[in-house]
Amino acid sequence: MSLISSKLPHVGTTIFTIMSKMAQDHDAINLSQGFPGFDCDPRLIRWVEEGMRKGMNQYPPMAGLPSLREEIGKLIMRAYQRDVDIDNEITVVTGATEGLMASLMALVHPGDEVIVFDPAYDAYRPAISLAGGKAVSIPLAPPSFTIDWDRVEDAITPKTKYIMLNYPHNPTGAILNGSDIVALKGILQRHNLIVLSDEVYEHMVYDGQQHLSMLRDDFLADRSVVFASFGKTLHVTGWKVGYVVANPALTQEIRKVHQFTTFTTSTPFQYGIAEYLKRCDDQVWGLGEFYQRKRDVFSEIMAGTPFHMLPCNGTYFQMASYKGISDLPDTEFANFLTQKIGVAAIPTSVFYEDGTDHKLIRFCFAKEEEELKAAGTRLQALGG
Ligand code: PMP
Ligand code: GLN
Repeated sequence: MSLISSKLPHVGTTIFTIMSKMAQDHDAINLSQGFPGFDCDPRLIRWVEEGMRKGMNQYPPMAGLPSLREEIGKLIMRAYQRDVDIDNEITVVTGATEGLMASLMALVHPGDEVIVFDPAYDAYRPAISLAGGKAVSIPLAPPSFTIDWDRVEDAITPKTKYIMLNYPHNPTGAILNGSDIVALKGILQRHNLIVLSDEVYEHMVYDGQQHLSMLRDDFLADRSVVFASFGKTLHVTGWKVGYVVANPALTQEIRKVHQFTTFTTSTPFQYGIAEYLKRCDDQVWGLGEFYQRKRDVFSEIMAGTPFHMLPCNGTYFQMASYKGISDLPDTEFANFLTQKIGVAAIPTSVFYEDGTDHKLIRFCFAKEEEELKAAGTRLQALGG
C-alpha cells in the first residue's frame, strides 16, 4: 500500500519543462517555453553585482525592498495613473508564480468557486485545488478567444468568489477591450466578486492598442489582485522577481502566506532592478514596440510555411493552426515537430481542463531574428 496519497493526482510535470527538455534532447530550436532568446541590458547585471558587493546579501523586508516598491509605484503611476500605497498595496514576490500561489492559498477557502477561462495558464488550477477551491472552466472560442460574458454570468453560483483573468493572454495573444471592462464591472457589482488578474504581459500590447489593466479603474483596482513579473518586462525570467498589487486588506492576507512560502525575494536582484528602474526605465516603455517588431518578423517568416497563423495582439506568443498539415492530436504533433522537424512548440490542449484540441500550437517569438528564420526554414519542409 502506498504511504502517500497525492494532493494533485492529475498533475504531471509542466508542459514547459517537458518541451524544453525534448528540444534539448533533439537539438531542436526551442520556440516552446516562453523566455527571451537574448540577454538583458548589461547595466541591469552591473547593478545586481553592485548590490552584492555593497553587502545587499541578507534578508530584505518581507514585503520587498522599499526602493523597489517605490519604483514599482512610479511604473504604475506612469502606466495606469494610479497612486498605489507602496507600504500596504505592493508585495514583491519570487516571480508571479509565487504571487499566484500565495494569493490563491490566502484567499480561496474550501468550496469556493473560481472562474477560469480555457485555455488557461497551467499554474492556476493546481493552486486553486490545493487551496480546496474549485476551478469552474469557461471556454474562450477561437479564433478571437473573446470572453462570452453571458456565459460567465450563467456560471456564477452562491459559491463563486473570484474571476481569474489573464490579459494579455497566454497562450492566445488576446487582449481585453472596452466592452469587456464594462461587462466585468457589471458582473462584479451584481455578484460581489474579486478579480485575480494575471497581467505579466502588461507591457506587450501591439498596434497602438492599450493594455486595460485593472489598475486603470478605481472600482476594479479596489476589487482586484494584480500579478506582474520583471522576468517578462526586463528579459530576466530566471531571476524570478515579480510583484502583487492589491488593496490593503487583500495584501495583508496575501503577505500572511508569502511570509511562510519564501518569506521574501532575493535581495541583490531586488536592489539591481530598483537601481536600473531609477535610471533607465525606457526599456519598459519601449517593450511593446520591441516585441511588435519581433511578431511582425515572425509572421513574415511563418507566411512561407503551411501553418495558418492566428492574430496576436499581445504577449510574446502566437498560435498557429496545423489543420492543413496534419490531423494528429496536438501533443503528438508538437512531439513530431520537435523530434523530426527540429522546432519545439507548445500543444495548447494542455491548457484546457477537458483537453479540447483545436489543432493549435503556440510558438514563442521572443528570439533573435536568426533563430526565428532558422525555425522558419525547418518548418517550410512541412510544405512538402
Ligand atoms: N502567468 C503567466 C500567464 C505566465 O505566462 C507566466 C510565466 N511566464 C507566469 C504567470 C509566471 O511568471 P514568473 O516567471 O514571474 O513566475
Ligand atoms: N510562462 C512561460 C510560458 O508560458 C513558462 C514558465 C514556466 O516554464 N514555468 O511558456
